Amino acid sequence: MDLEAYRDCQLCPRLCRVDRVAGEVGVCGETAVCRVASSVPHHGEEPCFTGERGSGTIFFSGCACRCVFCQNWQISHEHLGEAMDLEALTAAAMELVDRGVHNLNFVTPDHFWPHVRALCRRLRADGVRVPFIMNGSGYVRAERVPEYAEHIDIFLPDFKFADAALARRCMGAADYPERALSALQAMVTAAGFLRPWDDEGRVLAEKGVLVRHLVLPGQVENSLEALRLLHRDFGPRLPVSIMSQYRPMPRARADGFLDGVVTGDEYARVCDLAEELGFERAFIQPDFGDSGFTPDFREEEPFAGNGRGKEC
Ligand code: SF4
Repeated sequence: MDLEAYRDCQLCPRLCRVDRVAGEVGVCGETAVCRVASSVPHHGEEPCFTGERGSGTIFFSGCACRCVFCQNWQISHEHLGEAMDLEALTAAAMELVDRGVHNLNFVTPDHFWPHVRALCRRLRADGVRVPFIMNGSGYVRAERVPEYAEHIDIFLPDFKFADAALARRCMGAADYPERALSALQAMVTAAGFLRPWDDEGRVLAEKGVLVRHLVLPGQVENSLEALRLLHRDFGPRLPVSIMSQYRPMPRARADGFLDGVVTGDEYARVCDLAEELGFERAFIQPDFGDSGFTPDFREEEPFAGNGRGKEC
């Protein structure tokens, strides 16, 4: 496996230039030893990925964003996870495929891209045909996207912040909005919009881009501006997923910032603007306030809500 990109690491916009092969770490906090916190069929993704048998999620340890409110804080801040070489990664992915998942969903994979690329190649060579999903923060170097698109079928990026000051406050990077928008442009150019489109999940997605936005408590203006920017750059046919599931995690509680939940009124204002702007393909979370998919990665089954889904 080619580990060269981990030396002088510039895999993401943080451009830390550390030698991860030598054991150094940058903002993501991970060396060149790939680590995984969880690999499970997930029944709480959007219906077009979850279907009947779940999305095959593989959660990578660490994150280059490390947002103060991260819903996966155990893996982004506490670095929960176990080392996996390419053989172990392949075995974990094949186990998911054998359980019948509809896709393989690589969660926060950017900082382990050399491993993920090798995994994609191995799986395709072994005859795996399910779509591969890159599910990440959106804080991506646009120039890297064409290479991702050689291996990835579906891009599922966040667009977290339209407000540069909020991005600086939450993740220490005021360039998030411009970085995320240009990466998204590259993803749409490479893969198009998500298709086939079926918001009830009877027909599963095979290719393209769906953008996620998590509404944050007390930050409705950020969400409204995020929708306006997405509409400005991509028009109303861009598939979007507007998420209501925010829960304050320990770091947010300790900071006293974003230490609450999103109210019904806040979420409704964001959804109303999506409708007003004419977004034609939007996932709205039907179970507003359901915490069954707030993960606990110390558990073998991190998502309590999975128990309410179909078994594989
Ligand atoms: S992947 Fe990690 S070490 Fe590399 S540039 Fe990004 S944050 Fe820094």
